[in-house]
Amino acid sequence: MNEIKVSDLARQLKMKIGELVPILKDLGIPNVVNGTSMIDKESAMAVKDMILSERAAKKAKKVEAAKPLKTIEVPKNLSVRDFAAKIGVDPSDVQRKLVEMGILATVNQQIGADVAGKLAENWGYAVKIQTSSAATPPVKQPAKPGLAPKQKGAGKLLPRPPVITVMGHVDHGKTTLLDAIRRTNVTEHEFGGITQHIGAYQVSWNGNLITFLDTPGHAAFTSMRKRGASVTDIAVLVVAADDAVMPQTIEAINHARAANVPIIVAINKIDKPEANVERTMQQLMEQDLMPEEWGGDTIVVKTAAKKGQGIDELLEMILLLAEMGEYKAEVSANKVRAAVIEAKVDSGRGPVATVLIQKGTLRIGAPVIAGETHGKIKAMFNDKGERIMKAGPSTPVEILGLSGAPNAGDILESAKNEKEARAIAEKRAEEARREKVAEKSKITLEDLYNRIKEEGVKKLNVVLKADVQGSEEAVRQTLLKIENDEVRVDIVHSGVGAVNESDILLASASDAIVLGFNVKVDVRAQDMADADHVEIRTYNVIYELTKDVRAAMSGMLAPVYEEVHLGQAEVRATFKVPNVGIIAGCYVTEGKVVRNEQVRILRDDKEIFKGVLTTLKHLKDEKKEMVQGFECGIQVDGFQDFKEGDIIDAFTEKAIARAI
Ligand code: GDP
Repeated sequence: MNEIKVSDLARQLKMKIGELVPILKDLGIPNVVNGTSMIDKESAMAVKDMILSERAAKKAKKVEAAKPLKTIEVPKNLSVRDFAAKIGVDPSDVQRKLVEMGILATVNQQIGADVAGKLAENWGYAVKIQTSSAATPPVKQPAKPGLAPKQKGAGKLLPRPPVITVMGHVDHGKTTLLDAIRRTNVTEHEFGGITQHIGAYQVSWNGNLITFLDTPGHAAFTSMRKRGASVTDIAVLVVAADDAVMPQTIEAINHARAANVPIIVAINKIDKPEANVERTMQQLMEQDLMPEEWGGDTIVVKTAAKKGQGIDELLEMILLLAEMGEYKAEVSANKVRAAVIEAKVDSGRGPVATVLIQKGTLRIGAPVIAGETHGKIKAMFNDKGERIMKAGPSTPVEILGLSGAPNAGDILESAKNEKEARAIAEKRAEEARREKVAEKSKITLEDLYNRIKEEGVKKLNVVLKADVQGSEEAVRQTLLKIENDEVRVDIVHSGVGAVNESDILLASASDAIVLGFNVKVDVRAQDMADADHVEIRTYNVIYELTKDVRAAMSGMLAPVYEEVHLGQAEVRATFKVPNVGIIAGCYVTEGKVVRNEQVRILRDDKEIFKGVLTTLKHLKDEKKEMVQGFECGIQVDGFQDFKEGDIIDAFTEKAIARAI
């Protein structure tokens, strides 16, 4: 009678026999085999006590956890030191906890509210973000410890990996750094196997993904921005410690700043005997990049990319900055949006484009438009060359199936179906052609005044190049002093040396003019400026330079236009071409007619239309101009109503600079 059946004890404890038996066995109670085994009552009582008290403790803990946490108010961003003071602990304790969270931070480093929230739980606090005005809706407390506050209505927005571009002077180690980062994530064997770079890749660090654009250089960065794609969240500026700040370092800084992208500095090659970190930091400071360890707010990481040194810390810092940036995207957006990173036509595979998803999830089979191309996603590959079926925000993928190679910086979007995709792409191509015709050139000194008056332009962006630093500074200072009530000068970039392609790119992306003082213009830069309609003016006398800028601001440089007659053509027949419209079959009776120039259409000696000649064909070929005695097909933008005998009178307008 001093014994009890195991199954009876289980019933009393409201437990399954299968759960109780192992516990009894673990406790070393003799003769326990299954539910029918008998154990002595004393042992049974002890086990019962133990299990019941364990349950009570668990329940108490739950009640405790359910109690609201003590709350502290924190600003959106605060330093590790300030956070420690709020909690009343030593900053080093906070740093230690941050390390456990995979974040390496100095005491002056800023942490975002999300991180502060997670940290605070360690000391039994919840955080409330201070709001500066009553109009800002209050931020909810974390529902559960460990979870970031959920924002109402933002259900679809999910965090996405940050996208990084590596910039810096040539030979400072950008490529080596990108390779070193990639190596952190794949085995040496895999690394060797990845022969094809697709223009971007992703690494996973402490469970967080980071996307790197694998095309180092600010030129690539800015040419994408010029086309309207801003894909970069953070710029990593590589500065070699043995060379310090060089001209392209400054260019890169200005490119990043013009795009409003935060900069993390990697002082590289610290393994070299001639490395001088102090001097490099000093020079960075002169560029307004004050390192944190000197009390500033620029994150500086010391690396030796060649040896893989400092890479971990760099990744930590990127994630830290990304956390503050709180980059988010809709994963399940109806419309997918991606930026084209690079594209080419492969002889075997056809058009191949690498795109970086910015919104939504791109799937195999999706009908898409990319710039002026269209198609259906036939196949997708990730950065390791593996075939994938879908890709979400911040993921770089190589896609097959487009009708042609889009331009880097073009936007890829999903369409309802292939028909719609084709129609949109064709419309865009047509619009692009028209835009080209009516292309509004970039700002020039001559049209500055009109732009001030008509478009409310408030500043004249300038890229300045000079022969030596002394004159650069002198011109800079003089320019900055020029202003009137309506407009002021803003120097986007200034540097020493010839005007180069990077200057033109920056000027083009920032709608700036390029002013050169005692410098030449590279041939390639001149070609690019001509193609991009960027104005370059060079001077040998500072006074002349400033005089022109001043005159431009007050409208004294605005040009006067004079009409120059080009020639005439007579309409001899009209043709209707499906999908194209009416084409006038003409004979050039005098002078010449020129594509993209202006024309007047005369009927019975009266002007019935004035516009731009957009199509000029001879037989099947598109021509730039046709001269007297030739037949040609003509289309004029916005006019279809040609009649036999109409005269097409071609002319151009020439700007005549005013004498100042
Ligand atoms: P990029 O022009 O900025 O892409 O520079 P690269 O990555 O091509 O590097 C230029 C040269 O510097 C190469 O010979 C690299 O091996 C070397 N290099 C890059 N990083 C380091 C480094 O951390 N230490 C040393 N000693 N050499 C480096």
